[in-house]
This record gives sequence, structure tokens and C-alpha cells, in this order.
Amino acid sequence: MIYLDNAATTAVSPEVIQTMLPFFSDFYGNPSNIYGLALTSRRALDSAREIVAKAINAKLPAEIFFTGCGTESDNLAVIGLARARKELGNHIITSTIEHPAILRACEQLQKEGFEITKVGVDKYGQVDPQKVAEAMRPTTTVVSIMLANNEVGTLQPIREIAQLLKGRQTYLHTDAVQATGAIPINVQDLGVDALSMSAHKFHGPKGVGALYLRTGVRPLSVNYGGGQEHGLRSGTENVAGIVGLAKALDLAVNGQEERVRELTQKRNYLIEKILQAVPGAELTGHPQQRLPGNASFVFPGVEGESLIMQLDRKGICASSGSACSSSALGISHVLEAIGLRAPLARGSLRLTLDNSITYKELDEAVDIIAKVALRLQAIAPHSSFKADKRSRRSSSK
Ligand SMILES: *Cc1c(COP(=O)(O)O)cnc(C)c1O
Repeated sequence: MIYLDNAATTAVSPEVIQTMLPFFSDFYGNPSNIYGLALTSRRALDSAREIVAKAINAKLPAEIFFTGCGTESDNLAVIGLARARKELGNHIITSTIEHPAILRACEQLQKEGFEITKVGVDKYGQVDPQKVAEAMRPTTTVVSIMLANNEVGTLQPIREIAQLLKGRQTYLHTDAVQATGAIPINVQDLGVDALSMSAHKFHGPKGVGALYLRTGVRPLSVNYGGGQEHGLRSGTENVAGIVGLAKALDLAVNGQEERVRELTQKRNYLIEKILQAVPGAELTGHPQQRLPGNASFVFPGVEGESLIMQLDRKGICASSGSACSSSALGISHVLEAIGLRAPLARGSLRLTLDNSITYKELDEAVDIIAKVALRLQAIAPHSSFKADKRSRRSSSK
């Protein structure tokens, strides 16, 4: 099997599993209690908070809050901050290419009387900071723009957006679920007030996330109970999961520069080979300013879902942008936002690598992908294949 879907989830690294295991067996105490067994759990949480804070250059461990997943971190940030500042205004800015964890949260806010502006992106899937500035109103309380897109991998100019918001009452949140572990994250340098991450996207376990909140930034809680995580996220802490998240992040930031360099080379190799091997293939997302492990494409005359299913039969795990976040037209909202239209946008393929992939595996994958894509193109109705060239907006690359 060749796994090329690390944006969907990653394998838990063996070291992470080893670090987690004692917290299922020996150290099962509830961190809220006061006896020795519980203190072991409490200390493990404290240590995890320190590790995460250090990894993203937060000022204090107390700025890290553990949650149940990336989605929950996103919801808590956007919904919680909007509700907390309701007295100051009801306007939220986000982008058209956000993950559903942000887009659906904004829809919920809309039902509560908030006004949402979704800033568009260019043909590379990048938000223009100037557009964010133009969308600002005196009543804008939260801006939420992702750090890296999960479908096309484009990195967003968060630092520039933060500069524009300086001195205003507006909080800046970034969904860094794809970026954390993949590229260096420095919350002070970025200038964000809140940042979401999720362990399973960086070789940690599923079902545990974290939210960075700069000191003084205080969302309203979105759940109610025992008041864990300083009252922000009630529910007994997932101690093993949190320990695993911290270990995985620690591993990810150690020697990160070298790994990013190596992965970028592998990704560029893969992109070049795919563009050569599949007729009419186009890269989606930004050619350079993209996640080191993301290679995403559209193939004319190919239907994404058929492609994924046939690749699966040949032992390749990959995904099509349209799978988890399709719009009414059956194409991904991200591809739609960058100006791609059906039928071309239906032929999307997202290949996301980690450092464990070998060049030999990449060669094998390209061979198989090209064979399958060519076969699908051959049986596609000629008319739709032709129509692809015209289906792109004038912004076409
Ligand atoms: C995966 C992902 C999420 C959701 O994280 P979960 O831990 O799966 O809930 C949110 N945003 C982005 C950009 C993601 O890639």
C-alpha cells in the first residue's frame, strides 16, 4: 500500500504510542483529583501544555487549551469569541476556502444574528490581506483565516493580516490544523490571538486537539460541566491523547527544517512527474507557497471519485477534493473559490505525503495514477474533455 493521504490523517508514530500507553494502564487517575495517582495525570497535562506552548512559541503554557479535535478548537474559537464580544459588534470575517469546521460554525453564528463576510481568494487559493482590510467594519470582532488550506495546500498571509488588524478590537483566529507540524509555527511572530491544531494531522492520535489563546483572549465556552481547562472545555481530560499530542508535536518540531526541505523536494518531484505523465493535468494551489507535503491536481476528462476508487484497488490511498466538502454542484468549495468549474473541477486528485515516502514509491504511484487517469480519459465522453479548456475562468493559469 502507498499512503498518499496525510492531509486526511496520519499514522500515529510508534514513539507517540509508547508515550501514551502508560496513561491507559498504570496512570489512569483523573487529573481533577488530589491523590498521588491523579497528580501523575495532572503533571502529565502540565508537561504537555509546556511542550505545546514551547513548540509554537506561546508566552505561557496557560495559553494552551486542550480540546477533543481540530473541529472543536475551531468552533470554540470562532463561536466562543464571537459570542464573548457580542456587545462590541456582530460582524465576522472569514474566507471562502475554510474547512467546514469554520464555515459551518459561521453559519451557526449567522442564525444567532451575526453577519458573516467571506473573503474570496485568487487563482492560487490565496487570500489578499487588502481584501480583509476592505471587509473590516467598526463592528468586526473576529477574523478567522486558515494558515494552510487542506485541499490545495496554499499558505495564507496570516502575518500580513495580523498587521492590518493591529490596534483594533478584532480578534484574529487561524485554523492551523494542516500547518501544525508541517511548517514552523510561531504564534507571536504570526501575531494571532487564537490558533487551532489537531494531533492526528501530525502523527498523533485522533480525537485530541488544542487551541492557543493569547493571554487575555477569552471565548465563551461552548460546553458546560465540571470546568476543566480553566472553565473553557468541560469534560475529563483525554490524558493519554493529550500526552500523545504533545509528544507528536515535539517530534514534529525537532529537526523540522531538514524534514521540510526533504519533503518539499519529494513533493516537487511528484508534481513534476504527474504533470508530465497525465495529459492536461494542472496543479491546483500555489506553486511555491504551499504545504511541503501537498501535491494537488485537476485532470481533465476524469471523475475524481472513480479515480480514487480505482487507485484504491491498486493499493494507493489518495483523495479527491470533492469527497468531504462538496458544494451543491458536487465540486469542492475550494476549487470553486479558485475559479475552477465542472467538469474539470470534478477531476481533482489530492496527494499528500509525509517524510516516510520513498522516491521508489513515488515512481510507482505516478505509474499507476497515469495508467488509471489515461484509461478514464479514454472512456470519458469526448465533449466533456473538450469543454474543460473553456470551463476555467479568465484567471486561468
Ligand atoms: C482536519 C482539519 C480540521 C478538523 O480537525 P479534526 O481533528 O479532524 O476535527 C479542521 N481544519 C482543517 C484545516 C483540517 O485539515
